[in-house]
Amino acid sequence: MKLFGTMKKTKNSLEIGGIDVKELKAKFQTPLYIMDEELIINTCKVFTKNFNSKNIKGTIAYASKAFLCKYMCKLIDKQGLSIDVASGGELYTAYKAGFPLEKVYFHGNNKTLEELELAIKLNIGNIVIDNENEIDKLINLLEKENKVMNVFFRVNLGIEADTHEYIKTATLDSKFGVSNNDPNIYNIIKKINDSKYLNLLGFHSHIGSQIFQEFSFIDACNEMLDFYEDIKNKLNIDLPKVNLGGGFGVYYNKEDDPFELENFLKKYINHIESEVIKRNLNIKEAIIEPGRSIVGTAGSTLYEIGGLKTTLSGKNYIFIDGGMADNPRYALYKAKYEAININKDFDSEKELYTVSGKMCESGDIIITDIELPKCEIGDLLLVKTTGAYNYTMSMNYNRLVTPGVVFVNNKKIKEAVRRKSYDDLILWDMEEE
Ligand SMILES: *Cc1c(COP(=O)(O)O)cnc(C)c1O
Repeated sequence: MKLFGTMKKTKNSLEIGGIDVKELKAKFQTPLYIMDEELIINTCKVFTKNFNSKNIKGTIAYASKAFLCKYMCKLIDKQGLSIDVASGGELYTAYKAGFPLEKVYFHGNNKTLEELELAIKLNIGNIVIDNENEIDKLINLLEKENKVMNVFFRVNLGIEADTHEYIKTATLDSKFGVSNNDPNIYNIIKKINDSKYLNLLGFHSHIGSQIFQEFSFIDACNEMLDFYEDIKNKLNIDLPKVNLGGGFGVYYNKEDDPFELENFLKKYINHIESEVIKRNLNIKEAIIEPGRSIVGTAGSTLYEIGGLKTTLSGKNYIFIDGGMADNPRYALYKAKYEAININKDFDSEKELYTVSGKMCESGDIIITDIELPKCEIGDLLLVKTTGAYNYTMSMNYNRLVTPGVVFVNNKKIKEAVRRKSYDDLILWDMEEE
């Protein structure tokens, strides 16, 4: 069994950050999202230390849609990271957490007027313009305020990364960005560059998520720098920064073989540097936007097993006290996970189970066909690698309450998000006249 970060199996239990998860269950109930703070900090350091070269400054912008709360903003700020937000709500969270707003990159293919107004009011560092519609919207707003905004423009490089259909973002028909082969792209870039309200710093590309091949990133980088060269030749525009997005894969189960980050990041920035020099480009800074790879394996979800069922045909179910409401990723794209029955030894007798939630949906499944030590009612089940795209994708279907989030580190517990209460659930229901 693969354990991450500070996870340690003990007799009849398991520790994360030096804290027994049974203690967490007693204090915060289940389901509960548990974040290994030390692992997050160490991963941030791997990024900041290795993605830097002599001629290219490396910037790490954490992609906050993977996991976000005010405490997380503070944590990554302390590690010197920038932040990538994709909505007004994410931006507002960073703002309320006191995150330095000049280090924000604001993404999205349909930013509303209200969101753009907020971004301008808060004087955020960078807006990543996704398409032509956004240019006039933004210029009009900036003209009113008489402000200048730093911008990037999102380019779709047409790279087919080897990942799930729904998490690919740079195929030719993708909704994100404008293709580098679209002849209209020169007019768009000229228009941005000519506006006195927009300060074009560079181009942005993000090819997808949960990518395991190093060459996908290298290919995308080459394609991107070819595009910079083309823009330099055709429009005489030579920009100082490049944003290459995120998408670095992590381990969920034994089918996943992620590359080692430290090595890859060194290779990656050195490659960027030498390709920039080769093309004689003006790029001085490269930004990458890891989300999943910063929080994925650092998060786990703790459940209690409330029921067991063997169907007539012999299928074994484990019923947990959460499910698709706290982790919709199996329902969305058959995501796979590993889990630990923390009450049992790893080497005790095993059975094949399907882990199912308590919601009224047959697709309410977390794991199919997993071998686990024989489970009993009352055992605690820890599902691993739920740090990314779980809490942020959670919902209140069946009016289940959203679990709390705790960060554990060096025997200390920080309750970062409190568990919702029933009263929280009806907070928005208006009273009858
Ligand atoms: C989602 C997203 C990321 C992060 O992707 P991960 O796979 O979580 O690393 C980075 N940049 C942009 C623009 C994104 O939309």
